Amino acid sequence: MLSACRLCGSRNLKRYYTQGNQSQYEFYKCMNCKLVNYDLSKGLNQEKYAREYIDPSDHKHRHNAGQTQTYDFIRRTIGNSGKLLDIGCGNGRLLFLAQSAGWQVKGLERSGFLRDSIKKAIGLDVEVCDFLSYEPGEGDLFDVVVLRHVLEHLPDPVLSMRRINSLLKIGGYAVLEFPNIEAPDLKFKRFLRKMGFHKKKYAPDYKPTL
Ligand SMILES: [Zn+2]
Repeated sequence: MLSACRLCGSRNLKRYYTQGNQSQYEFYKCMNCKLVNYDLSKGLNQEKYAREYIDPSDHKHRHNAGQTQTYDFIRRTIGNSGKLLDIGCGNGRLLFLAQSAGWQVKGLERSGFLRDSIKKAIGLDVEVCDFLSYEPGEGDLFDVVVLRHVLEHLPDPVLSMRRINSLLKIGGYAVLEFPNIEAPDLKFKRFLRKMGFHKKKYAPDYKPTL
């Protein structure tokens, strides 16, 4: 079991919900900072998105909706020019929108498949690396750094936030996005599962994804 919250270090954790056919993948809620921590020692599937590629210029595809929302938020609250870094840029939808609007963009991905697909689809060079080891060029800092649905899975979120801070220009913005575990549909699913009504069948090789 997980011994301490990865964000605040508190040991006051409550087993919150599980995944997997044997309920072997455990998620703990920190009663201090409320972050829900997955017990990473059980393993993660980091390949989920690496087998399919969705055209980032497809405005109608539902897979692109999340990144479109994030970009709209940036456009409304920050603006339409400067340098933007997307950490874990997926299929490159956000980079595509930002670049089309006038941002200078840079993307980091862990998947070589996604890098190659982005290059083919929109001609953009994305770097394959773990962002903690990413070294920008001298003085190469960003107005905006985006991290969507990643921080909550990282072994050391505090170190990761420090790292993001070091990649920002003074006065720059970090745009961090988290799933809302208290969303009504997720709450309802957890309730049904707890009552035994919602027996989800997991694939034999299922592991929670990043
Ligand atoms: Zn905590």
